[in-house]
Amino acid sequence: MCALLSLLLVVAVLAGSCGRGSPSPPAPSAPGELPAGGTGAPEVPVPKRPCPLCGQPVPENLVHRRPFALMIDNAPQARPQAGLGEACLVYEVLAEGGITRFLAFYLHEDPPKAGPVRSVRPYFLDLVLPLDAVLGHAGASEQGFADLRALNVPHLDEIYGGGDAYWRVPPSERKPPHATYTSGELFRAAMKKHELEKEGPFPAPFPFRTGGKPAEQGKEAALLTVYYPGGWQGYRVSYAYDRDTGRWLRSINDDPHRDADGRVLWARNVVVHFVEMRRIPGDELLHMEAKMTGQGQAIVFSGGRYREGIWRKPARRSPAVYRDDRGEPLELEPGPTWVLVVPVGTRVEIK
Ligand SMILES: [Zn+2]
Repeated sequence: MCALLSLLLVVAVLAGSCGRGSPSPPAPSAPGELPAGGTGAPEVPVPKRPCPLCGQPVPENLVHRRPFALMIDNAPQARPQAGLGEACLVYEVLAEGGITRFLAFYLHEDPPKAGPVRSVRPYFLDLVLPLDAVLGHAGASEQGFADLRALNVPHLDEIYGGGDAYWRVPPSERKPPHATYTSGELFRAAMKKHELEKEGPFPAPFPFRTGGKPAEQGKEAALLTVYYPGGWQGYRVSYAYDRDTGRWLRSINDDPHRDADGRVLWARNVVVHFVEMRRIPGDELLHMEAKMTGQGQAIVFSGGRYREGIWRKPARRSPAVYRDDRGEPLELEPGPTWVLVVPVGTRVEIK
């Protein structure tokens, strides 16, 4: 009887402690929504401003944060990647061996997990510098390291000095070098610790259309396919336009390209950006070089249409400016943009 009594007492104590936090009194701040600043304040609508990277209206306090950009693996063993769905802007560029890598830029949506993070190549620095973002990567090619130093690129390298911004998953999950991940929260904490934070405003990569329906310029397109040359087992990327949502849905070799959470990756705009690119003669590691400055052709897809034009980029630190054949700026729809950087002569099929 005595044992039963003590058991009842334990149950009563446990019930008492559980009841303390829930369900009453109500929690002072509701989870889910970001507070406008301070806790317990009455609800005040947060002023919104367009995100410089994607043009979408987002709370002002997030727009002035410094963006960061992650080098993300696209080897078949790296798929599905994590965190590409949260990016405002993604560049896809060939690395050696016919495999592409992504440079994904983040500002207002912090990915819970992003990666696998890989090493950087020099021509990706031409995309990071104009947007004053902090680069996240795991190592670099020899020229990549030289350019990181010479150009004083703000960066967190998982292998040399910035390991606190990342974690590695066990080999049972992903084998190295496809095992390095970060999150928005962890990366931003490391930016703070390494004194890489900075207040905005930050530059925008494109002019975005403001207000109303998509522009009805250009020719209609329902599907675009880019055949990356030298691609691993005929690597090709397609985007199919979904009229109901205004989204371009991404596929790799005809299979929907999904993020780790199962969502099919999509873009509001797809830009095909042609550059002079070649394998470096005599380089045993098959590294590529790309001429990212100067000018070249571009095709901009948005709103189920496409327009052709020219990009110009006078220096490594300046952004590429896109104009149509009459010299007018090529505006993009607000939303995520994917820029496919491809060698001149790459086959692009539009239907
Ligand atoms: Zn954005």
